[in-house]
Amino acid sequence: MSELLDSEIKFLPGVGPKRAELLEAEAGISTFRDLIYYFPYKYVDKTRFYKVNELDTDMQYVQVRGKIRRFSTEGGGSARRLTADFYDETGMVRLVWFKGQKWVLNAYKTEKEYIIFGKPTLFSGAFNIVHPEVEEVEKRAARVSSSLEAQYSTTEKMKDHFLHSKAIAKLMASLFSMPALKFPETLPSSVSGPMKLMSLSDALFRIHFPDSNTDIENARFRLKFEELFYIQLNLLRYKGNRTKKTRGFLFPVVGEKLNSFYARNLPFALTEAQKRVVREIRADLGSGHQMNRLLQGDVGSGKTMVALMSMLIGADNGYQCCLMAPTEVLAIQHHNSIERFIEGIDVRVALLTGSTKRSERKRIETGLLDGSIDILVGTHALIEENVKYRNLGLVIIDEQHRFGVAQRARLWQKNDCPPHVLVMTATPIPRTLAMTLYGDLDVSVIDEMPPGRKAIKTMTFTDAEREKVFGFMRRQIEDGRQIYVVYPLISESETLDYKDLEDGLESMARAFPPPQYCISVVHGRMTSRDKEISMDLFRRGQAQIMVATTVIEVGLDIPNASVMVIESAERFGLSQMHQLRGRVGRGADQSYCILMTSHKLSAEATERINTMIATNDGFEIAEADLRMRGPGDLEGTQQSGMAFDLRIADLGKDGQILNLARSRAEEILAGDPELTLAENQVLRANLRRLFARKYSWSEIS
Ligand code: ADP
Ligand code: MG
Repeated sequence: MSELLDSEIKFLPGVGPKRAELLEAEAGISTFRDLIYYFPYKYVDKTRFYKVNELDTDMQYVQVRGKIRRFSTEGGGSARRLTADFYDETGMVRLVWFKGQKWVLNAYKTEKEYIIFGKPTLFSGAFNIVHPEVEEVEKRAARVSSSLEAQYSTTEKMKDHFLHSKAIAKLMASLFSMPALKFPETLPSSVSGPMKLMSLSDALFRIHFPDSNTDIENARFRLKFEELFYIQLNLLRYKGNRTKKTRGFLFPVVGEKLNSFYARNLPFALTEAQKRVVREIRADLGSGHQMNRLLQGDVGSGKTMVALMSMLIGADNGYQCCLMAPTEVLAIQHHNSIERFIEGIDVRVALLTGSTKRSERKRIETGLLDGSIDILVGTHALIEENVKYRNLGLVIIDEQHRFGVAQRARLWQKNDCPPHVLVMTATPIPRTLAMTLYGDLDVSVIDEMPPGRKAIKTMTFTDAEREKVFGFMRRQIEDGRQIYVVYPLISESETLDYKDLEDGLESMARAFPPPQYCISVVHGRMTSRDKEISMDLFRRGQAQIMVATTVIEVGLDIPNASVMVIESAERFGLSQMHQLRGRVGRGADQSYCILMTSHKLSAEATERINTMIATNDGFEIAEADLRMRGPGDLEGTQQSGMAFDLRIADLGKDGQILNLARSRAEEILAGDPELTLAENQVLRANLRRLFARKYSWSEIS
């Protein structure tokens, strides 16, 4: 790799220490390479000129050629502004500056020909352009530039220091004019040739300085492909190594524990999909290689049973297994239901969470080491470094989006031989995201719901219709049903959210007064013991209503609850609402999901609500979520590390490029699994550069 690319940005002419600091802090640009990979978010066509009499308020940006006739200053205080009357032969447009007025007066002269560029707005009967770009006509002619001008996103702070889009473009030009700047090709000709990809150096130049839309398309395609290709190559190599080289614990038998559970305790017939998935898992466990499997299945499809049966196979083969849940509430529920399921079977189960008492924790630690505990259920606590197992053979991770490659790798440290891993997703995830976050895993899908479930009916009401909703709730309670009412919780303003919950609780208590009604409350600020007491009240049917924050979001399983009321539904993301809705519809009764919204909704919120009403299918909802929000915002994906600092590819839109990238990576590894061929050395070198740091496991927090 060229060393020049790794130079600190402050050494680029025109940058200096002050701007370097800003670039680093505001845009994450600290080297020449970072600047080059700071791609434009759009382009404006600067070949087109408009006449003043053609201007229209719908126009995004216009370019007009003309002269300034007169400057004047208007207003006072913070409203003080400098205006200039700018004329072409068809009329006048007013240029307006609120900042840098002295500088403007110095820089621009009347009766000189300029090109101005900006967004026209209509203000007291005349077209205005606020803070236009102004360029002398002669200078434009002399400037080497492409007709399509790249636009870079900049922050307010950057703009305050004149680091606006144009300044970035200038830095880019100055960087590209360095004769020593070279971009060694990063893809072998066996990849770029057949696909007719633009070379890396052309692509990097053209993405910033395109001559045509075709240039932009080709450059983008090349850069997106490369970005996705390396991620896939990395994942597939990892997968290949695991299946071919990594020894795994062998679980050869299905023994007494699973068999007697199946014969005596199984409370229902498994669905065909559950049976198939259990077979797939059994095949992995019996292969002698480490299992790394993703289990996808919509909310309520019965993943927990699959997890339990897998753990019983582990126990039958003399290994310990653990089941990790994202929240304490869920860990407790899993623990309780597993205890119930395995009654009378010779298996010992323990529960470990952040709030497990020290004495109990000691007992568990001893039990794990002497092997008297077979199954450990818990939260993150159970994979912490200080938790030592005698022979951990299988780790099941429930309902976690964020358990990516790096987090899974951490489990390796628990043994000299890596345990089998089964990841169960919280909600279905879009294919592109699954391929990127879990691209190294084998995939099983439960595509069938347990029999007898009725489709949940979803409705929306505004706050003004609350009485109607209360009436509906009362009738449901009369019929013996139970109801969840969920308030949003957004971490930035926990106090505020807590207030929402308290206010809501108050009005709920007025509408459903004791002793006729009993309301249980669960929120994040309660101790886990209090939470458990409240949950229990509801679980046993003594409370008809449970008012909660999203702590109940994942996994909670109470079949008699048939109504889910989501308050301020506009504040929830799609997959979150789908998860919440999945709390009902688990029994034989018709279930309902009621989305309460305020009167006025943003277009996006409306789309989310409509999507919820239109479909119950988790896969469809996941795709819609990805389309609307992009992968960076999907729940928990920020923490997943690697795949989401995509610079140019978009998992919502670039599914096809991703497929191409994955199949090219597969072909290459099929022909050269270790990447030892001379022509593939470039792949090795880039994999190391791109992923070496991220895969030093010790750094994973
Ligand atoms: P999820 O996949 O969302 O984790 P759960 O494992 O919590 O779903 O299962 C949802 C509910 O369906 C539970 O009450 C569970 O006992 C029940 N269940 C699971 N499998 C079946 C089945 N084959 N037939 C009937 N009920 C089932
Ligand atoms: Mg579950």
